Amino acid sequence: RPEFALGAIFRENISKGTELGEKAKAYTDRGELVPDDITIPMVLNRLREEDCTNGWLLDGFPRNIRQAVMLNEVLARKGIDVDICIEIALERETAKRRIMGRRICLNDNNHPNNVNMEAIKPNGDRCRICGGELKTRDDDQDEAAIDQRHGIYYDTKNGTLAAIQYFKDLTDRRGTPAIVELDGRAGVEEVTGELIEKLGNLSLK
Ligand SMILES: [Zn+2]
Repeated sequence: RPEFALGAIFRENISKGTELGEKAKAYTDRGELVPDDITIPMVLNRLREEDCTNGWLLDGFPRNIRQAVMLNEVLARKGIDVDICIEIALERETAKRRIMGRRICLNDNNHPNNVNMEAIKPNGDRCRICGGELKTRDDDQDEAAIDQRHGIYYDTKNGTLAAIQYFKDLTDRRGTPAIVELDGRAGVEEVTGELIEKLGNLSLK
């Protein structure tokens, strides 16, 4: 089943020069968040494509309550329920420290290093895997931008936490989606293991 990160859907639309992509680009070029009336149809268009007939996984969407309600309503009209909602819970200050602690290996982007995570701490100021030189990404050090994104995520009235609650309320009323809650304080491998175990325990229709 295809998996979509919201950023990848943006990039696909922008590179193909779709109308929505052009509109989205104007915002991302200014470093601003793309508004819902562009984001929502872009995601829904993607879910209509051929490869989505057997299911899909969305990462980073819905980001707020409005997107969650629209996603659910559009799917319901087609007789589709969201099967599973996965929440990786992490305290806000920890999430910020992890972003700011991220270090990029100049030899290989896939060498994880983080000065604020014990499991993947760099070796001094060098990459813990290859000993290569490390740098920070500008985005990761932009506290104002992080605070703005987290302001949306941790907003329990309109933001991502509100969207999660919306799905939990649906579950209380009608039994779906299955809610999978994960403790994000653990390392990537532990969280992945917990996720796979919990998904394995679900019995889906
Ligand atoms: Zn490295």
